[in-house]
Amino acid sequence: MGNIDQRAEALTILMEECAELIQATSKVLRFGPDAQSANGANSLSELQTQEIADLFAIIRIAEKHGVICCPDEQQIQ
Ligand SMILES: [Mg+2]
Repeated sequence: MGNIDQRAEALTILMEECAELIQATSKVLRFGPDAQSANGANSLSELQTQEIADLFAIIRIAEKHGVICCPDEQQIQ
């Protein structure tokens, strides 16, 4: 992903998804995992899981396009 606007957009989405996971996790702590989410369809636990999936997805996309470098297994350990 060489275009600077595309890089900035990918990094912006990465930040947004981090923030959405923080918000979802905060609501699990405040109201409990089984509480209804604001959109009505899912529990807060399910909402949190969806936000984790969103974050994994943008990490994969950003790495695929060379915007970020993911850690190897040794760095994680
Ligand atoms: Mg999201």
